[in-house]
Amino acid sequence: MIDIKSMLPEEILEFTVKELKAPKFRANQIMDWLSKGVTKFEDMKNLPKNIVETLNSICYISVANIEKKLVSRYDGTVKYLFSFEDKECVEAVVMKYNHGYSMCISTQVGCKMGCTFCATGMGGFTRQLKPSEMLSQIEAAQRDLGIRISNIVLMGMGEPLDNYDNVVKFIRLVSNEKFLNIGTRHITLSTCGLVPKIYDFADEGFGVTLSLSLHAPYDELRSKTMPVNRKYPVDEAIKACKYYADKTGRRITYEYAMIKGVNDTPYCARTLGELIKGTLCHVNLIPVNPVDGTGYKPSEDKGIINFQKILSEYKVNSTVRRTLGADINASCGQLRGKNKK
Ligand code: SAH
Ligand code: SF4
Repeated sequence: MIDIKSMLPEEILEFTVKELKAPKFRANQIMDWLSKGVTKFEDMKNLPKNIVETLNSICYISVANIEKKLVSRYDGTVKYLFSFEDKECVEAVVMKYNHGYSMCISTQVGCKMGCTFCATGMGGFTRQLKPSEMLSQIEAAQRDLGIRISNIVLMGMGEPLDNYDNVVKFIRLVSNEKFLNIGTRHITLSTCGLVPKIYDFADEGFGVTLSLSLHAPYDELRSKTMPVNRKYPVDEAIKACKYYADKTGRRITYEYAMIKGVNDTPYCARTLGELIKGTLCHVNLIPVNPVDGTGYKPSEDKGIINFQKILSEYKVNSTVRRTLGADINASCGQLRGKNKK
């Protein structure tokens, strides 16, 4: 069956003429309905019966079903567990900011990368998400909450650059004016550092913000918590990020989850400062979200503030991230893990 929601406008046009044997204006009608979020071809009211029948026999419309929904008492952050046709589940989070709503979506069911602090990583990999399944998460949340999402972060379950073609297609679709029309400058992609793909992604020419999950400033330590580092070490990842910043003019965000007694020492702060000083970047310091079975604890406030102070001596800007939705396990992978049990 053809996944019609993963098709770009020009592909739908070609499909309408060649496969449906229908006039071109039908393509626009189909796209209008898809952009309105219809989930059945029968609901495309201005299409003749025979076209609806053909569509039903060769295509499907991907949907994300809400399996669970948690709303934070503290800040209104909403966390969803969505299921797809094959019953596989992913998580996504909607956060409200002054300037609108931001949504963190998943790009894979599970993840192959095995980071030791991450609930998703601990659960292993199941399958890739299709572009339509990434879009469906946004549409389902918009419909459920009656809002428009203005920013997207690819920071849910999965490693986006390990699902490269589907993620690139998703970015083309979601930014298309015929569909959700969310500009690429309002999209952030977070990666654990798949170096060759960072270069490819820079060369796509999107204005997407790149976020590197660094979490440790030198190889020995980073390889312990992030196995990907054994293949693509710290200096190669940083070099790729510099290329990305040069090519796109966009500031790189470095994510740094603060783990008590592991990566929060003054030595780590100085090493990090040396590593990225003078580059176009920003560091997010995030107290690690404790995941069952990891034994990791978040750093204490005092240590975080001191770490930040040392970074500022290298003129490296950083923000201590408020943890949104702490009461609903808003860091991804935890809800799905609980549901499986
Ligand atoms: N695979 C991508 C994107 C998904 S993970 C990546 O690793 O960047 C999204 C972010 O959550 C990453 O920065 C990841 O390192 C971070 N993360 C995972 N588990 C966490 C935890 N327990 N506490 C804090 N951050 C965590
Ligand atoms: Fe995968 Fe990112 Fe979790 Fe690492 S932190 S296991 S790359 S989802």
